[in-house]
Amino acid sequence: MKYVSTRGRAPVLEFDDVLLTGLARDGGLYVPEEFPFFTASELREMRGLSYQELAVRVMLPFVEGSITEDELRAMVTDAYGSFRHPAVTPLKQIGTDDWLLELFHGPTLAFKDVALQLLGRLFDHVLKKRGQRVCIVGATSGDTGSAAIEACRDRESIDIIILHPKGRVSEVQRRQMTSVLSPNVRNLAIEGSFDDCQDLVKAMFNDEAFRDEMSLSAVNSINWARIMAQIVYYFWAGLSLGAPERSFTFAVPTGNFGNIYAGYAARRMGLPIDKLVVGSNRNDILTRFLNSGSMVIEGVEPSISPSMDIQVSSNFERLLFDYVDREGATVDAMMKEFRETGRMEMPQGGWRALCQLFEGRRYDDDATRTRIAGLYRDSGELLEPHSIIGVAAGRDCGRPEGSVLVSLATAHPAKFPDAVEQASGLRPGLPTWLGDLFERTERLDSAPNDVEAVKAYVRAAVAKVPA
Ligand SMILES: *Cc1c(COP(=O)(O)O)cnc(C)c1O
Repeated sequence: MKYVSTRGRAPVLEFDDVLLTGLARDGGLYVPEEFPFFTASELREMRGLSYQELAVRVMLPFVEGSITEDELRAMVTDAYGSFRHPAVTPLKQIGTDDWLLELFHGPTLAFKDVALQLLGRLFDHVLKKRGQRVCIVGATSGDTGSAAIEACRDRESIDIIILHPKGRVSEVQRRQMTSVLSPNVRNLAIEGSFDDCQDLVKAMFNDEAFRDEMSLSAVNSINWARIMAQIVYYFWAGLSLGAPERSFTFAVPTGNFGNIYAGYAARRMGLPIDKLVVGSNRNDILTRFLNSGSMVIEGVEPSISPSMDIQVSSNFERLLFDYVDREGATVDAMMKEFRETGRMEMPQGGWRALCQLFEGRRYDDDATRTRIAGLYRDSGELLEPHSIIGVAAGRDCGRPEGSVLVSLATAHPAKFPDAVEQASGLRPGLPTWLGDLFERTERLDSAPNDVEAVKAYVRAAVAKVPA
C-alpha cells in the first residue's frame, strides 16, 4: 500500500516509512492512496472471527509491502493479549438497537491502548529490521502518557521519556506512568504547567541537531497506524451486530478526530454506516463547524472530559482532503488560511455532502453530569464523562429508522472517579487487577522548566547513564 500526503507535496511512502515519519514533510498527514474495500459477501465471511483474526484481515491491505501476514498476526496477538477481556472490545446492550462498544479494557483503561499497544510493537518491529533505535519523547497532561508508556515498555529498539507537570496530574494518572519500572521508560516531572511541558518537547524537536543526534520520535495522534488500528473495532461491532444485513450509526466522543475518522475509513472500506455522530464538550469547534460550514478557533476551557479539550482537531485534515476531491493544493491553501486567520470556510458543496454523513452535538459539564445520572438511573450503567457524551449524542441525533446505534465508550469510569461521583453519588473502583496501584513502587525524576536541563536528561537517558 502506498500513502500520499493531504497537502500533495511530500514523497509517496510505503507503510513502514509512514509509520516512522508521522507528519509528512509538507506539513500534511498521510492517507492511503486508495482505501481497500470488502464486498458484502466478504463481510459475511468475516463474521465470527476472533478480534485478533479480524484485525489481521482488516489491516493486512494497509501494511502490504512492509509487513507480512504472519508478522502482523504475531504483533496483533501479542498486543491484544494485554487486554483484560477475551472479546478485546466487548459490546454491551443499553437499549433496543442501542449498544455500547467498550474500548477501555486495555492496560491503562482508555481507548488509546487499542491503537498504541499495536503501534509500539510495529515501531519495534520496523526499527529492529532496520537496525535503528529511537527515543520517543512526549508531554502529557495525564491521560495519554500512560498509554504511550505501556505501549513502549520493554521494547528493545525504543526508549521513552514522558514529561508531565509536577503535582498537576491526578495520583492515578501519575502512578499509571511512574509504576512502570522497565529500564527503557523514564518519567520526568517538570516544575511548570502542561503547556511548559509541551513547549519543552517542541523546543527539543525544533533543534534539528539534537533531534537527529538523539533520534527523537513521537507517537502522536496523527500517526496513520493509530487510525488503522482503530478501524478494526468498527468492523468488529458491525459484524457482531448483523452487518452487512444491518446498517449502523456510530456515536463518538471526539477530540482530535482520530477515532471518528477511523469510522469514516471503515465506511469507505464497505461497512454499512448511515451516520457518524460527533460528541463534543464545551470546546465544540467541530460541532460549530458541522452546524455552520466554518471552522473557527476559540480558546480552550477546561472541562470534566479533558481528553476532548482541544482547540483544533488535527485529524480533520484527512477528512477535508477527501471532501475537496483529494486536491492537496486546496487543502494546503485552506490550512494556511486557517493557521493565519483562525478561520476556514469549507466550499458549500463539500460541507453539505459532509453533513449527509456527520452530525455534531455539544454537552457542557452540567449536561454531561445530568446524562451520567440519567443513564445510571435507567440502566444501571455507570459511564465517565467522555463516554456519556458519545451516548447522549447518539441518542439525540436524527438516526435513520432501523439504524443500529453503537456508542463508543472511550474510558473506564475509574479513570475519572471525581466527575463520576459528583454526577451519580457513586465512586467507581479500579478493576481488581489494578487494585494494588497505590502500593506499587514509583520511579520518576524531576527537572526545572529549562530546556537545557531537559536536554541533558534526555542525553543521559539515551546513553543509559543515571541522570
Ligand atoms: C483521546 C480521547 C478521546 C478523543 O479521541 P480522538 O481520537 O482524539 O477524537 C475521547 N475520550 C477519551 C477518554 C480519550 O482518551
